[in-house]
Amino acid sequence: MLDPMQNLLEELHKKYASVTSGHPATYIPELAKANPNDFAIVVTTVEGVQYKVGDWNKSFSLQSTSKPFIYGMALEEHGRDFVHSKVGVEPTGEAFNSIMELEKKTNRPYNPMINSGAIAISSFIKGDTFPKRLESMTKVFENYQGHEVSVGKEVFESEKKTAHRNRSIAHLLRHFNVIDDRIDEALDLYFMQCSILATTSDLSMMAATLANRGAHPLTKKRALSQEYVGDVLSLMFSCGMYDSSGEWAYTVGVPAKSGVSGAIFGVVPGEFGIAVYSPPIDEKGHSIRGLRVFEELSKRCQLSIFRVTKT
Ligand code: GLN
Repeated sequence: MLDPMQNLLEELHKKYASVTSGHPATYIPELAKANPNDFAIVVTTVEGVQYKVGDWNKSFSLQSTSKPFIYGMALEEHGRDFVHSKVGVEPTGEAFNSIMELEKKTNRPYNPMINSGAIAISSFIKGDTFPKRLESMTKVFENYQGHEVSVGKEVFESEKKTAHRNRSIAHLLRHFNVIDDRIDEALDLYFMQCSILATTSDLSMMAATLANRGAHPLTKKRALSQEYVGDVLSLMFSCGMYDSSGEWAYTVGVPAKSGVSGAIFGVVPGEFGIAVYSPPIDEKGHSIRGLRVFEELSKRCQLSIFRVTKT
């Protein structure tokens, strides 16, 4: 007999596989090649037990699902005071790639989950050479995934070639002294983190690592100091779904992050991590099947962090 969680995931997978609205992202040409039928759901407990359904072994680029992990890295390397002297903690109500949105008096990007904040955060990665900075960034993802990671070179090149909007954001950040002169390096680090490959199983394990207070459930290796896990989850909760963060908090109620490759991950602190992958996205950049799966999973399993436990 199947475990009830496995049964539920299979039911949701079957139900939402028939949703065919939306298209894979096209503004990064390489992402347009994704197969719209790919669909996977993986739940990973803080003990490392996984429930998987669908194409859970297919790799995709993390895109914006990488942002919380690099924000955590910045907190470890520089501490809260420095990081938040440069990047705020307020949701924007704007799209992820908004250009002219910096905080009025401070000229800081609003938060680390949108592109302007994430490009600033990538620019903080320590190291005297680009390869060293890249190596320490990659190491962070290895700790979360529990194995070596690779970069999707084609996605990286494809984004680098077409990223006029992100380039203009980076120059604006330089103008306001949020980032230093290594503008192209900051952008390359940002494109690289967005191009790190993961399967839905990996992303779910990364989520479970955050659920497990920063320690990988199986290797037990620390990916993030416990003291910063709350910072990361709090910003995922308020800003992780961009201009639908309020609706997400209301309907799903767990810290989460989406990426334009079609991935969404969520964290139920102390319990488990969840990842859904399905490339067709809506106009805000969220996986359409991903949104539906999370909403139903949250209702059926009472996942909201505001659920009232029956006495
Ligand atoms: N690399 C993408 C970009 O900067 C990430 C966006 C996303 O996943 N929302 O446009």
